[in-house]
Amino acid sequence: MPSATSAKLRLGEVPMVLMYHGVADVAEDPNHLCVSPRRLAEQLTYLKRRGLRGVSIATLVDAMRVGRPRGLVGITFDDGYVSVLEAALPELQRHGFSATMFILSGRLGGSNEWDEGPRWPLMSASQVRELAAAGMEIGSHSTTHARLAGLDADQLEAEVRGSRASLGELVGAPIRGFAYPYGSMDAAARSAVRDAGYDYACAVQTPMSELGIMALPRVYVGQSDDARRMAAKRLLFRGYIAVKGRRP
Ligand SMILES: [Zn+2]
Repeated sequence: MPSATSAKLRLGEVPMVLMYHGVADVAEDPNHLCVSPRRLAEQLTYLKRRGLRGVSIATLVDAMRVGRPRGLVGITFDDGYVSVLEAALPELQRHGFSATMFILSGRLGGSNEWDEGPRWPLMSASQVRELAAAGMEIGSHSTTHARLAGLDADQLEAEVRGSRASLGELVGAPIRGFAYPYGSMDAAARSAVRDAGYDYACAVQTPMSELGIMALPRVYVGQSDDARRMAAKRLLFRGYIAVKGRRP
């Protein structure tokens, strides 16, 4: 898609994008990275009852470009935990939803060593292929989970372009999406993502001046988010976009 089209993206129409990590019943989760399979089921059921459909970000971006994002909610899972394949995939399929899984190309079969706290296994190459074969979008979450803000050009090249090339080879299709580890980015990082051929990128708490197709905002969803809190988050997100979309 040409960048001229991207520039025309109307921010007032940016749909909600949910951000998940692992899906498991865990005893200890100090960084609030997991939701239980049961809680995920409740959250997806909430969306469905509201007449919303959970989709991958590639699907969402395509819909935004033709002005038809209404009724869609983006669903993303960062880091590539094995628990996503085991617990999230069946629940997504049960609801007829898809999602984007952002994978670390340099940590396949490893664990979340960059975090302080419990370690959870990351998917292997064949498990990532399994997700792709099940119709989920595979995106890049960099090579090693580096904080991109402040990296030099060579480091950005390795984390951004390098991960796109190796994941593309892994799944046998071009990788369209990127998610900034820790939501960390600066102008150089956003340029590196665009130059590497990505079509869109997901951030976390996107500053107003940076909101756009290379920094799509996402809403964190955690274990404490029951249907009532999901409804509140949806309203808050609409307010946030309404305010930001109005600024020049
Ligand atoms: Zn991450």
